[in-house]
Amino acid sequence: MARKHPKHGPYDLPDTDEDAPAPVVPCWLCGRPTGKTVVWHHPIPKSRGGRDTVPMHPICQNTLIANFTNSELQRYGMDVEGLLANPAVRKFVDWVANKDPDFNASIAKKGR
Ligand SMILES: [Zn+2]
Repeated sequence: MARKHPKHGPYDLPDTDEDAPAPVVPCWLCGRPTGKTVVWHHPIPKSRGGRDTVPMHPICQNTLIANFTNSELQRYGMDVEGLLANPAVRKFVDWVANKDPDFNASIAKKGR
């Protein structure tokens, strides 16, 4: 009756976990979990010597690119609070907050 070696104890770690999805990382800009597509954004543009990357939604990266020049992005660097202080970015983040992580407005669908 008393099983000394339960097969599925609470502390057993599954050893067949190969199908597990990659760990979800939060978006640098909006803080939501990232979806299927994660872009690794350079807060400091690569052309300005930036090496660090942060995970972002494609739509969030598009928003940054649409609202800031490379010089401005370089100036803000890793200071996401500074970027969020921009009214347009703030408005976008508030708007996108309730969207699905995979939501991607048709910003990219043009020129066809
Ligand atoms: Zn995002």
